[in-house]
Amino acid sequence: MLIVQKYGGTSVGSLERIRAVAERVARTVKAGNKVAVVVSAMSGETDRLIGLAHQISQRPEDREMDLLLSSGERVSAALTALAIRELGVEAKSFTGRQCGIITDSAHTRAKIEKITGQRLRETLENGCVAVIAGFQGITEETDDVTTLGRGGSDLTAVAIAAAVNADLCEIYTDVEGVYTSDPNIVPSARKLEKISYEEMLELASLGAKVLQTRSVEFAKKYSVPLVVKSSFNDAPGTYIVKEDEDMEKVLVSGVTSDKNQCKLTVLGVPDKPGIAGKLFSDIANAGFVVDMIVQNVSSDKKTTDISFTIPRTDSARAIEMTRKMAAELGARGVDHNDSISKVSVVGVGMRTHSGVAARMFETLAKHNINIIMISTSEIKVSCVIDNMYTELAVRALHEAFGLDKAA
Ligand code: ADP
Ligand code: ASP
Ligand code: MG
Repeated sequence: MLIVQKYGGTSVGSLERIRAVAERVARTVKAGNKVAVVVSAMSGETDRLIGLAHQISQRPEDREMDLLLSSGERVSAALTALAIRELGVEAKSFTGRQCGIITDSAHTRAKIEKITGQRLRETLENGCVAVIAGFQGITEETDDVTTLGRGGSDLTAVAIAAAVNADLCEIYTDVEGVYTSDPNIVPSARKLEKISYEEMLELASLGAKVLQTRSVEFAKKYSVPLVVKSSFNDAPGTYIVKEDEDMEKVLVSGVTSDKNQCKLTVLGVPDKPGIAGKLFSDIANAGFVVDMIVQNVSSDKKTTDISFTIPRTDSARAIEMTRKMAAELGARGVDHNDSISKVSVVGVGMRTHSGVAARMFETLAKHNINIIMISTSEIKVSCVIDNMYTELAVRALHEAFGLDKAA
């Protein structure tokens, strides 16, 4: 078999862990497989590098950040290749550029456009392990280094698996698979044997960082066989698969939360056609990803308050820009709330069963948790709440939807 194995930050977090990775890779090779390994930076390294940049500059340029951050993954790739070679197995490390990972030029959140990967294929064909620095690529026109957004090594692994037509892409991390909720928040969470691409996509985009959202999108699009496992033991992991009939029998498959949220409210916006269109096209053009939107008409029916949520990491820039726009639109001002979070329940079973939203609202009410905003899709319901209650809400919903493992 041709297998891609991706090891996250904790899995390569120390020399001891890197040696453990090398042993697993060597075992896989000795069992007769060809192996490509994708590694993250050692845990904490990306944050450390970001911290350094912010000590030098208040607003470091994205292009410079990309070159800086890509170095973390290079270090672990080279060390991992050395560790594998120490075990007598042929291995070579590669940067994103050496694997021909071509991206667009959206620095810090680049999209993979293609993988030329000739060198990679040759390496694998010769029975040599290719150890690839995750999270990075280059632009075709300028040869600039780009990175693929936080958690982007997952995307590197899935994209490499698609490019070399791998039989399996294994994501090794610090938990044993995908759980009904973050096992670090909900101790009674159960490991799922399998989950559909759709549900995984919703869970990831709603805050379950076990897989990067775009990696799931990519895996779904190219039908990459994907499994999430622990690098700390040999327990069977969770397979991400196409939806099957059994899955619809389960009402809710997972509960997740996202604290990286901020709510902005444009107050007293003139209530006439075209205003929301102008506001949100300007916001989108500035590169902000808006999630929920709520509009309330005021009692005088002449103005409205428009609230929307964006990732909190963007809030400083977004507030500045929204204030300018509010002035242009003749609105009264802009309010913001950073202490919110979003809790969500996800399940393909919602397509065929009703009452999920009602049960969610009742559960939050029972715990005196106020709902600030609501949004739904075919397979999820999300509520924005005060972030003080995030863990309480997640645990309560996990229990209310019968997801707790038997005591
Ligand atoms: P890596 O460094 O290996 O990429 P991450 O920290 O990005 O690992 O992702 C693994 C973490 O995802 C776990 O430690 C866990 O806290 C978190 N997580 C959130 N939701 C879930 C979930 N539903 N199932 C499993 N893990 C989850
Ligand atoms: N090192 C990068 C991050 O911390 C990418 C990754 O780990 O997947 O986001
Ligand atoms: Mg990750």
